[in-house]
Amino acid sequence: MINFPIDSIRKDFPILGKKINNNDIVYFDNAATTQKPNAVINAISDYYKNYNANIHRGVHSLAEKATTEFENTRKSVKEFINAKSEREIIFTRGATEGINLVSTSFGKEYFNEGDEIIISEMEHHSNIIPWQMISKEKGLLLKTINVKENGEIDLEDFNNLISSKTKFVSIVHISNTLGTVNPVKEIVNICNKNNITCLVDGAQASAHTKIDVQDINCDFYVFSAHKMYGPTGVGIVYGKEELLEKMPPYMGGGEMIKDVKFETTTYNDLPHKFEAGTPNIGDVIGFNESIKYLEKIGRDNIEKYESSLRDYTNKKLNNVENLNIIGNSKNKIGIFSFTIDKIHYYDLGLLLDAKGIAIRTGHHCTQPLIEKFNLDGTARLSLAFYNNIEEIDYFINSIEKLNRD
Ligand code: PMP
Repeated sequence: MINFPIDSIRKDFPILGKKINNNDIVYFDNAATTQKPNAVINAISDYYKNYNANIHRGVHSLAEKATTEFENTRKSVKEFINAKSEREIIFTRGATEGINLVSTSFGKEYFNEGDEIIISEMEHHSNIIPWQMISKEKGLLLKTINVKENGEIDLEDFNNLISSKTKFVSIVHISNTLGTVNPVKEIVNICNKNNITCLVDGAQASAHTKIDVQDINCDFYVFSAHKMYGPTGVGIVYGKEELLEKMPPYMGGGEMIKDVKFETTTYNDLPHKFEAGTPNIGDVIGFNESIKYLEKIGRDNIEKYESSLRDYTNKKLNNVENLNIIGNSKNKIGIFSFTIDKIHYYDLGLLLDAKGIAIRTGHHCTQPLIEKFNLDGTARLSLAFYNNIEEIDYFINSIEKLNRD
């Protein structure tokens, strides 16, 4: 194991000191949502206790302070993903809303009947349904890239699916079910060569790998704060400025306008054009603390530590009898979907809960992918940097015992 201040990090997360069913909590459901450090919890409470006000329109001190803190988060996000400008950072309620924003707004402006969209078989429902909806509305064809037996994307199939009608590709960076890290730079490069606009769903990637949107060179990148040790109800759409400028607003209301007349309205500048209504101010402010927290630990350190945890878990899981891991991509993070012969995943989830261990069971919002593997669900263990070897050993001992009983 590498040198990582795991003990002091664990103390920053109050929930990790709690008990579940009289056992120390072991939280392995990080792909669903992550736990929050004190810094994030305190920042949210500080906003409500000390400077709660609406943003962007007040001249009073509270409004100014709230606006500054809110916009500071935008600055941090810009730095965090290396966007060119803060105008390219739009706050939403989450990755799901982000993908809907792009499919609806980009779709209205640019999709014509007969156009084609490509997604992959490993997409989260959030990156399937919005494209199905716009396809139905506009008469488009939605194609899916094959996922290979080992859980990797089939790039040859991707190349074969591209036609002169392909307008858009929307692809997940890291699969929430398989843990596969997709070669997004290569995929985006193929898109750019073929004049195809592309979105990368970074919901699972943003907490575990360094994101550089200029290096990836995608047109859109979306993610959620709650998967990054931040609050729920906050998401980010990164979009290239020249594209966002040309897209119509997603929702109408306050904040997103410059001048309103009953005859006609002019819209606000970026990014506010896409942020109608009062946003989730307190949580956006809290999110800045989670970005600072990740930067403080260091993203390289996080990657190194999480890789060592992944390798340890992988080795241990492979030694458990009757356990089958779904997805063995060469490049994957610490997300393990698995089945155990003779123990239904649902029962496994309940039996582990009795021991204080939280895992996820079911189709993980990737039903077509699960069905492709001839399953109706799996158990899923997903790691975060506050997990440790003792927790993994406890988990392995617990499933070995259940396997024997
Ligand atoms: N895409 C992926 C890969 C995800 O894992 C998730 C969340 N499980 C989403 C999209 C949707 O994120 P949210 O529910 O935060 O909108």
